[in-house]
Amino acid sequence: MASADNSTMLKVEDLHKNFGNIEVLKGVSLTARKGDVVSMLGSSGSGKSTFLRCINLLEMPNSGTVTVNNEVINMTTDRVGEPKPADQKQVERIRSKLAMVFQSFNLWSHMTVLENIIEAPVHVLGLSKAEAIEKAEALMHKVGIYERQHYYPAHMSGGQQQRAAIARALAMDPDVMLFDEPTSALDPELVGEVLGVMRGLAEEGRTMIVVTHEMGFARDVSSDVIFLHQGRIEEQGPPSEVFTNPKSERFRQFLARTR
Ligand code: ADP
Ligand code: MG
Repeated sequence: MASADNSTMLKVEDLHKNFGNIEVLKGVSLTARKGDVVSMLGSSGSGKSTFLRCINLLEMPNSGTVTVNNEVINMTTDRVGEPKPADQKQVERIRSKLAMVFQSFNLWSHMTVLENIIEAPVHVLGLSKAEAIEKAEALMHKVGIYERQHYYPAHMSGGQQQRAAIARALAMDPDVMLFDEPTSALDPELVGEVLGVMRGLAEEGRTMIVVTHEMGFARDVSSDVIFLHQGRIEEQGPPSEVFTNPKSERFRQFLARTR
């Protein structure tokens, strides 16, 4: 649901990414306005994770532009022609505005839930420990893990760990949240509790890019759906269009397989 303020939060233009001489992304563009939820669908190997990693600068794109909340990311190349960031300070600034939630939770295993959540607000945003704890408590209530705040990740279910990871992401007040198959590693009975939290975030107007195989979520929650095939956008549009009347035969086949 787009809010009244529909400023562009993320703009990706003609993104290309090679690994060696294999071109994995062949010119992908996307615009997300404030409050948009963009679902990215596609078979394994189509380039979905690489796309998210390029936005977050975990990978440097070979060409194209990425603009986060009106800040264009500066890129250059090293001596052998590999892309690299022009400004490491900018990379850190951009990363702090883009929260990534991974399939494998990626909580720090030697820290409790609360410690996981306050780490970056204290060390990156410069909040006092008391401020960070107050904020973390509100977020743990929001995602339903307040009672688990002193647990280590290994002592929690996958669903609890992923909700803790979402709380950790929210603690940075991100402009855009990137989700890479956040429910794919969960036992089926735990998927719903994580999707429920994500639906709540969408309803409160968070800007989200969600790589997912959850068609119900994509259909109900997205403002826009993108189907990636071999590094290209093969189908794109609002869910009401792409799910009822897909233009691409490949997307039809993909939908038939996932039903
Ligand atoms: P998806 O997330 O859609 O399954 P990925 O973005 O993970 O797809 O991968 C797209 C393609 O890029 C795959 O062929 C994969 O093997 C390749 N790839 C991904 N990361 C690397 C890497 N670091 N080095 C070389 N090839 C990679
Ligand atoms: Mg992937």
